Order: sequence, then structure tokens, then C-alpha cells
Amino acid sequence: RFETLAVHAGGHLDETTGAVAPPLHLSTTFGRDALGNPVAGHSYIRDSNPNQSSLETALAALEGGAAALAFSSGMGAASALLQALPAGAHVVLPEDLYYGVRAAARDYLSKWGMTWDAVPMHDLAALREALRPETRLVWLESPSNPLIGITDLAAATAIAHEKGARVVVDNTFATPVLQRPLDLGADVALHSTTKYMGGHSDVIGGALVFREAGLFHEEALHARHILGAVASPFASWLVLRGLRTLPVRVERQARTAHALATWLETHPRVEAVHYPGLPSHPGHEVAARQMSAFGAMLSFRVKGSREETLAVSARVALFTRATSLGGVESLLEHRATSEGPGSTTPENLLRVSVGLEHEDDLRADLDQALAG
Ligand code: PLP
Repeated sequence: RFETLAVHAGGHLDETTGAVAPPLHLSTTFGRDALGNPVAGHSYIRDSNPNQSSLETALAALEGGAAALAFSSGMGAASALLQALPAGAHVVLPEDLYYGVRAAARDYLSKWGMTWDAVPMHDLAALREALRPETRLVWLESPSNPLIGITDLAAATAIAHEKGARVVVDNTFATPVLQRPLDLGADVALHSTTKYMGGHSDVIGGALVFREAGLFHEEALHARHILGAVASPFASWLVLRGLRTLPVRVERQARTAHALATWLETHPRVEAVHYPGLPSHPGHEVAARQMSAFGAMLSFRVKGSREETLAVSARVALFTRATSLGGVESLLEHRATSEGPGSTTPENLLRVSVGLEHEDDLRADLDQALAG
């Protein structure tokens, strides 16, 4: 079962010392036998290393994939997947998407001889219309960043597959605890392991988990090997440690987020709450079908201007004003400011990553910040 895999996958008693916690192998190079073959499968740290391999075993088990690759960052994982596509490929992205991936498409895809379009991914007819014979990849993100939109993953995947395109789902917000894109037909699940998988705001990493260990996996592995976005041993060690407690953290954080979203929706100073667990969310029914709970990310719009919204954010005392998500501490962010020039995020939107503090303390902090 998932919780058991989370604790044990990729782990074993160290044979030389009996250590229960995994050893950290910092070696950059590995010995070969008299015939020139690597003694234990590893050769050079950029090809593979023991801590990265243990993490990959665990990631594949948790997402239910045939193979996993760990990367130096979520963007390293996203770039390697795009670099695995042939020149001339067309990519379909969702309009609401982690802004780094949108920036990567804007600044690099044409340099790499590719084209792309962005569609409102909740509109499956728009997706169908955007697909071309040369479309090689459909990018899905659900819940999406920062508007917490929902895409019907099974339906969008079926449409993409009909036209011969592969599908990647950025599963960073949901994690495999709450949503399993590969079981819904997707070809690849992507993670910024910097978030829930690391879980403590102290490590950067990324991952791709493949439903099948075929050509796509090999091309992404080749991109990582040659272009170099490997996970360091210590980063791999920290992410694997984070995975051990992933289910308990995410389940509790999602429960608290659901309670806070329900309360925020009734607050007189709140214009709207974006949280898929609320029946008012347009993607609520789809989310209820494809997620076991609704996640620990929410955003809300303050009734008022950019300045009034920034004033609310300035008053929080328990929430930390910071970007990123998925750690044990709750974070609050004026997303348009973090995204900077070119951001399309509404100026009255605050994004919240709900941590492991007590629900009542978090509610009280938001209440005093909203009361001004
Ligand atoms: N995908 C999502 C949904 C994210 O929120 C992020 C980072 O915030 C990324 C990908 C990129 O990950 P990283 O910052 O580890 O490169």
C-alpha cells in the first residue's frame, strides 16, 4: 500500500555498516573491475549515482511508473522532457501553468526548432482544436499554478492520445498521495520535488516518472546525462527522506486547507476563493473524481485593490510571506509581485501554501490580517 511504499521504497539496510538510515555517497566516480566494467553499476556521477538511483526507485513506486528520473530542479525535469522531443515538434500548454514552464516555452522552444500554443485546458474542445499532426506533447497541470484550476486528466489524455501526442502531467500540487496521473493514462508525471516531496523547504529537485520505460524515457535520460541537470547525492538523500512522511503530511495539510478555504469563502473581505474542494469551484466534480482529497494549495482574491491586498499580506504574522510551497510551514504570497512584469495573475490574488500548523492558529492569523 502507498503508505508502506512511502516508508520503504528505495531503502534497504546498509550491508557494510547495518545503518538503517541510507548512507550518503558523495563519490563522483566509481571503480571498475579488471575488465573495465563498473563494479556496482555506477560509473560517473552525471550518468548515475547511488543516492539518485535510490530516490528514483522510490519515485517510480509512488507514482506507479515503470521508470523515474531525478533532476536538479523541477525546471531541469521540464527542460529535459522538452529536449527529448524532436525538432519540428508542436507542444500544447495550458493557459494557467507554472510561469517558469511558460517562460521556458516562450524563450527556448523556437530556438530548439519547436512551436507551441496555449489553451484553456478545462475546455476540452479547445484542446482538440489545438492539436496538429506534428503535436508531440500535451502539457497538463492540475491543480494549476496559481489559479488552482482543474483539468479532466483522463479526458484530456484520451484526446491527446487519439492524435498521437504524449501527455505529461505536472503533479507537483497534488502529489501521488492525492492523484495518480499515470493510472489515468498519462505518459509522464512531473514533479518539482522542491515542494511536497522534499517537504521542508530545504532542497531543490525535480522528477519525471514514466508509465513505460521506452524511447521517451531514454531520450529524457540522454538529455539529463549530456546536458547535466542531475540531482546531487545530498539533494536526492533529502528528497528520499521527505518521501518517508509524504502521505501523513499531505493528508493533514489538505484537510487544513479544505477547512480554511471553506471559512475564507464566507469572509466578507474575500471576493473569491480558488480551491477545488469547494462546490463553487468550476472543477469541483472533476477534482472529486480524480483526486482523493483536494490538496493544500489555495488562492483567494481580496475585495479591493492591489494596495489593499498587499496590506493584508503585510499583516500576516504566522504565515510567512514567501514564494514556493509544500513545506511544513504555511506560506502566503502576492503572486503577481513574485511573477513580475508580464504576470497575468490578478493583482488582488494571494496564494497560500497550507503547512502543518494548527488550523485554528492559521485561521486566526488570516482573520486578523483581513480585518486590518
Ligand atoms: N511546477 C510547479 C507546479 C511549480 O510550482 C514549480 C516551482 O514553483 C515548478 C514546476 C518548478 O520547480 P523548481 O522550482 O524545482 O525548478
